[in-house]
Amino acid sequence: MLKALEALESYLQFLKDLGVEALPARKQLRRFLDLDLAVPVTSLAELHEVVKNCTKCKLHRTRTHAVPGEGPPRVKLMLVGEAPGRDEDLEGRPFVGRAGKLLDQMLTAIKIQRSEVYITNVVKCRPPGNRNPEPEEIEACLPYLAQQIKLLRPSLICTLGLIAAQSVLGHSEPLSKLRGRIHEKNGIKVVVTYHPAFLLRFPNRKREAWEDLKMLQSLYKEVGRA
Ligand code: URA
Ligand code: SF4
Repeated sequence: MLKALEALESYLQFLKDLGVEALPARKQLRRFLDLDLAVPVTSLAELHEVVKNCTKCKLHRTRTHAVPGEGPPRVKLMLVGEAPGRDEDLEGRPFVGRAGKLLDQMLTAIKIQRSEVYITNVVKCRPPGNRNPEPEEIEACLPYLAQQIKLLRPSLICTLGLIAAQSVLGHSEPLSKLRGRIHEKNGIKVVVTYHPAFLLRFPNRKREAWEDLKMLQSLYKEVGRA
């Protein structure tokens, strides 16, 4: 019984990683940078506090800690993942588990230090069992990401995985169609790549991710100091 469940779970994860499950191309998602918070904030620190106390969707009931994001208030590059996993939920920090270790290695490979970038996720609380965040949860949480982008004004955003790419760009195309080129969103250059958790499962896709990372590295060099 347990085996069957595990097999089903891994199959669902496989579909998710392949990007089979696409987000609905909702108007709200497409225009998310215009989203405003019910309670306006003037700094990232304030926003982090609001997120830690947020109860806007049902994920607040099952979380240990909300994971608002971390990094300096002035950065050239912002990284956007999908949602906290188990380790992140326990620590209240983004990308601290296995996927986070790979992310650190990816950054090191292109000579960017983690301490010089801001890292966050589309959804700030862990979906139970690491299921996909539901469209309602994404919608409830997106104003925080929009606000983070407005406060940080990074020159570059790198999205990790399908949900981040589709949320930031407002496209419903699969990842294979979105990666490999430079997008632009409100004057911010956006590079799309695979989620490190996907690369852990499918290491043969690291070659493509490396192409994305090299593109990111050259853009990073082009833009001035943060
Ligand atoms: N996966 C994500 O998308 N975000 C994290 O913070 C950790 C794992
Ligand atoms: Fe609030 Fe986002 Fe957490 Fe939902 S996932 S409770 S909207 S911070």
